[in-house]
Amino acid sequence: MLNFQLSKEQLAIQQHARQFALTHVLPVAWHHDNTDQIPVSVLEKAFRDGVMNTDIPKTFGGKGYGLVEAAIITEEISAACPGIATSIFDNSLGMEPIILCDNSVAQKKYLTDIAKNFKIICFATSEATMGSDVSGIRCRAKPDGDDYILNGTKFWITNGGIADYMTVFATADPDKKHDGICAFVVEKGWKGVSTGDPVPKMGQRCSNTAALSFKDVRVPKENVLAPPGKGFILAMKTFSRTRPIIGAFAVGAARSAMEFAIEYVKKRRAFDTPIVNFQSLQFKIAEMYQKIEIARLLVLKAAWEADHMPDPTVSASIAKMYATEAAWEVVDDALQLFGGYGYTKMFPIEKLMRDIRLYRIYEGTSEVQRMILSGHALHAYKPVMPPMADIPVSRQEPLDTDRTVWRCNMCGHVHYGDAAPDECPVCLFPKTIFKKYSPAETSG
Ligand SMILES: Cc1cc2nc3c(=O)[nH]c(=O)nc-3n(C[C@H](O)[C@H](O)[C@H](O)COP(=O)(O)OP(=O)(O)OC[C@H]3O[C@@H](n4cnc5c(N)ncnc54)[C@H](O)[C@@H]3O)c2cc1C
Repeated sequence: MLNFQLSKEQLAIQQHARQFALTHVLPVAWHHDNTDQIPVSVLEKAFRDGVMNTDIPKTFGGKGYGLVEAAIITEEISAACPGIATSIFDNSLGMEPIILCDNSVAQKKYLTDIAKNFKIICFATSEATMGSDVSGIRCRAKPDGDDYILNGTKFWITNGGIADYMTVFATADPDKKHDGICAFVVEKGWKGVSTGDPVPKMGQRCSNTAALSFKDVRVPKENVLAPPGKGFILAMKTFSRTRPIIGAFAVGAARSAMEFAIEYVKKRRAFDTPIVNFQSLQFKIAEMYQKIEIARLLVLKAAWEADHMPDPTVSASIAKMYATEAAWEVVDDALQLFGGYGYTKMFPIEKLMRDIRLYRIYEGTSEVQRMILSGHALHAYKPVMPPMADIPVSRQEPLDTDRTVWRCNMCGHVHYGDAAPDECPVCLFPKTIFKKYSPAETSG
């Protein structure tokens, strides 16, 4: 049964997250953006308030929420600060490979700990030399008995500088590409693990981004999440569950931009009237509203699929791509409605714009989403329509004609008669281009 209504429990979760965002995130967002520092105390509050780590299964002491609930919470926090939302949700990204893998020892150890104690866990596939091409990982994992020895670096890692734990993707053999990729949980305190200085960024300055370094780091077999050959799939499965949430970030941020713009156009006057009275501006608001609604629907559908269907990859890509691109347009329109004030640091739009620009880059760029979607549409998608050659386009007589029907496979011209003509009278291709049309082919 199709139902677009949030349940009573989901509405309560939304209310709780909204309250958390308005009380603990919104008031400090610009300060931390200015100082370019991650507000760890806000993350700790999020942990204590139950709006972080919500996907840890109940068996490990977690809330066991689904992705729909995560999307609802994320929209609210991102509406207050996209950077802090990234920092909070990054724990779920870091934990997802542990949740999805079949290593019950690592699951029990780390998920139970993260559910109970305030711990930060990051996720690391990207390196300085590769991001989109996950099969091109260079960080090495050399087998040593049942253990692995890690050597190499990771770059762009959200919460990398403050993480207690790291899910790290490496390769046992770079020449094997996808088949060499493996994954591990690594602890920051282990010998040989270190992190770089925070990366100075254009936006999302309330989130920490840093490099990780591994020098002869011994990873015990209990910490192997995926052996070589299984790591790439684990990374892709992780993204299928986290991309809808990037969409939820975008919906929240776009919603705030629209709300601020609505408030502004009602107050601002030009040509002796509030600018809201100009229909061209009303139409902009209509389009912003429509884009946010569509994005939210796609995000919730993708999140629902992740909770209930075996493979949410396609919906996750659609949700991420649409929501993040729509958010950019919404924020750009909002800035336009503010006129010159929108371009200043005294109004909230410029931070939203800087913050949301990242959404089209991390967890698979918009181009990568297009690759996934075009791959699906061109190779996996099953069409409903029969081939065009079997459709009675341009036929003048009904299907039940007694005469034999021939179709030119070049231009579509239809010929009636016992034999095909020597050449097509329309495109002049020779007789061999004609296909005898068999009504039986289209009857089913
Ligand atoms: C603030 C921030 C936080 C991040 N957090 C994390 C994190 O926590 N963990 C993590 O592992 N990574 C993280 N990343 C890395 C992020 O996932 C990568 O930046 C992203 O995947 C793109 O990789 P790249 O930067 O190497 O770009 P590249 O892969 O070098 O791509 C450059 C450009 O080429 C395009 N391109 C590449 N291949 C193709 C193709 N086949 N067809 C068409 N276009 C293509 C891309 O879309 C892009 O426009 C973060 C990045 C940033 C900026």
